[in-house]
Amino acid sequence: MIAYSDLRPIHNQIRAELDEAYRRVMDSGWFITGNELAQFEKEFAAYCGTKYCIGVGNGLDALHIILRAYGIGAGDDVLVPANTFIATALAVSYAGATPVFVDCDKDTYNMDPALVEDKITVHTKAIIAVHLYGRVADIRALREIADRYGLKLIEDAAQAHGAQLNEKRTGSLGDAAGFSFYPGKNLGALGDGGAITTSDEELAERIYTLRNYGSREKYHHELQGFNSRLDELQAAFLRVKLKYLDEWTKERRRIADYYLRTLDAEKMKLPYTEVKQSNVWHIFPVMVKDKKTVQDYLSRHDIQTLNHYPIPVHLQGAYKESGYTAGTFPTAERYAKEEISLPLWVGMSQEELEEIVKCLNDAIAKSH
Ligand SMILES: *Cc1c(COP(=O)(O)O)cnc(C)c1O
Repeated sequence: MIAYSDLRPIHNQIRAELDEAYRRVMDSGWFITGNELAQFEKEFAAYCGTKYCIGVGNGLDALHIILRAYGIGAGDDVLVPANTFIATALAVSYAGATPVFVDCDKDTYNMDPALVEDKITVHTKAIIAVHLYGRVADIRALREIADRYGLKLIEDAAQAHGAQLNEKRTGSLGDAAGFSFYPGKNLGALGDGGAITTSDEELAERIYTLRNYGSREKYHHELQGFNSRLDELQAAFLRVKLKYLDEWTKERRRIADYYLRTLDAEKMKLPYTEVKQSNVWHIFPVMVKDKKTVQDYLSRHDIQTLNHYPIPVHLQGAYKESGYTAGTFPTAERYAKEEISLPLWVGMSQEELEEIVKCLNDAIAKSH
């Protein structure tokens, strides 16, 4: 079986260092908000090119806490893409604000800036730009709109650690950014984890306070905060893995490049490619007309694939109260029906890649 993802090869590659990180934390006897977290925060901020990094419990909390720190809540609207993982919208709902969905561009699959202004009202406070599948969102256009209307531009960088716009990395492209270190993300912990990056000192102060029970000084609680901290073990593991991230990104790009060169672009929609640096290929999506037939064929040939995401957020049961109906966001809805995510992980063999390409090209030829 060719798995959609397998983390064992990269972990085996650095096993001794991970074991050493575990021992370091165990020997320190300190497990929450200690030296490993402080060091990781420094290292990840430097990597992203921001003044601050604040480790939190997961990616959802990262986005939620950013909104809280900005004071965004009841009565406010936040623009989010209709085609994203549900966490982007849930973060807005948890803050008490309303997620207002925007359809995606048909080629980049990211929020279409041309559709944004129509959604802005006096209630709009922020835009969350998701770098979907690992590709940097159209930040230039979104920044221009955000500035014109006085909105915060927040990055959901959960799928795009290290992706670049010109020389700047994700995390430093908006006013603040949320990252996830869920194990399967490009930079993944050995459990849940997340972080916020920003260069805004005041915002960072509020976030440090919010993530730790609203407290900067033990048992003094200025705010009704949360318990959302990146623990010492995960921070220690992430410090090891961060050193290899760029090398692993290179390998992801090599695999994506192979797919792009060998898959039949006449019969399926391959990802649009532009500047190499702007995509870290968290996911390699192909759009096909007959998804089920193609996916079943691959499955019969022992190739595991996934769908990101089969139901757009506005049509999920969780948002049925909002009253969105099918047809509201045609591009997002169409791709929800057509998208297949191909296996892509560091450690895949050339034989596996060839097998996937051959099977997918065969499946598409048969389904036409
Ligand atoms: C994974 C993900 C999140 C949530 O991260 P968790 O760590 O699982 O909470 C948010 N947004 C996007 C786009 C994601 O892919």
